[in-house]
Amino acid sequence: MHVPDHDTLLTEGVIAKFLRYVQIDSPSDEDSTQAPSTTEQWEIARLLEGELLALGLRDARVDAHAIVTATLPGNVPDAPTVGLLAHFDTFPGTPGRWVKPLIHQGYSGDTIALPSGATLSTVSHPELVHCLGHDILTSDGTTLLGADDKAGVAEIMETLCRLLRDPGLKHGPVRVAFTPDEEIGKGVDHFDVPTFGAVAAYTFDGGAQGEVEAENFNATNLRVTLTGRSAHTGYAKGAMVNALHLAGELMSAIPSTMRPETTQDFEGFLHVDEIAGNVESVTLKMLLRDFTEAGLAHKRAMLEGILTGLQQRHPGCQAKLEVTGGYRNMKVEVDRDPRVMGLALKAVRDAGVAPVQRPIRGGTDGARLSFLGLPTPNLFTGGVNHHSRTEWASVQWMEKAVEVGVRLVQLWAGERLATTTGPRKDTGSFPIASA
Ligand SMILES: [Zn+2]
Repeated sequence: MHVPDHDTLLTEGVIAKFLRYVQIDSPSDEDSTQAPSTTEQWEIARLLEGELLALGLRDARVDAHAIVTATLPGNVPDAPTVGLLAHFDTFPGTPGRWVKPLIHQGYSGDTIALPSGATLSTVSHPELVHCLGHDILTSDGTTLLGADDKAGVAEIMETLCRLLRDPGLKHGPVRVAFTPDEEIGKGVDHFDVPTFGAVAAYTFDGGAQGEVEAENFNATNLRVTLTGRSAHTGYAKGAMVNALHLAGELMSAIPSTMRPETTQDFEGFLHVDEIAGNVESVTLKMLLRDFTEAGLAHKRAMLEGILTGLQQRHPGCQAKLEVTGGYRNMKVEVDRDPRVMGLALKAVRDAGVAPVQRPIRGGTDGARLSFLGLPTPNLFTGGVNHHSRTEWASVQWMEKAVEVGVRLVQLWAGERLATTTGPRKDTGSFPIASA
């Protein structure tokens, strides 16, 4: 794709950028062993590198794994380096190629009908209640929109453009990174935190206006294999142990109140994500989630108890439990430096928006970065209903996100470098800076 020239980039605004990015196909692929997981992602990576170079950021580069980075040098001395991050891959589970973005101007509160026949209303999308008069971006309803997370990419690019346009805005060095493969949990597999060199970073990958997220699930992903015993069905009495029924028993033993479909906010869950098998053997993919380590351990113990019970009741049944992945709640890491959240909340307030602190009921690249030593909470983008054909974004919320980005780097410019170094201390003992 053609790289716009310097002046166009500076003046076109966040929405023009967004519309350009969403029309470049970039789904990731969970089954791929490559990094990036799809070759398609190179196109947007190279475009972003080209745009950053066109803006005059001389160290802009895309690395061997399609991670795009660049630095906007600071214009005040001794200010800490802050990172801004977003991912450019889109969720592979919903059609995401050939996105045809639409703008519905001046939302009236009525149902929005998409060309595909899909609709958005305040009933199905309660956040729309807060968007009367806004311009609403959607796809044509046959694909996702890609606001997750090209809204974040566009907002960070526009933040850079604002800072470049107005030298009166004081800021320290701003490091940006655009990453592939976030949707398949591999966005920061190849991310070099020491080279990135920021004291704190923010992902622009959240939802409705005001969201500031510094807490995510603790997660354990498991593969459970239940082995039974096959026999001729005509002569199976006393011989067959049907693994399919074992799996049924396991699933019905998960309390109905501890499932994703019945939990919210700070409640954790046990979830059966996939099941495959036959009489002899069944494999289940299971996800355990909780905001506390103790809660997660409890859920693991509960599952182990269910499996033990199965084996006791059904001689011949074998149960195997393997951990296939997981992640931890970043809160403990983010809290080590109270400026990280303190300045984010202040930036949101300074933009005239009431911050909404919510737990992320999932994991983020920011969580992984936080445990690698780069505290990285998540900020709103103005995109809503991600991973769906009725994904939408508010133009006005996206513009607020840019305002927050600009304000945030200005606030960090007022902070001195030295105070984050030195040994880590327990959380909770620092004053909240500038908040
Ligand atoms: Zn995202």
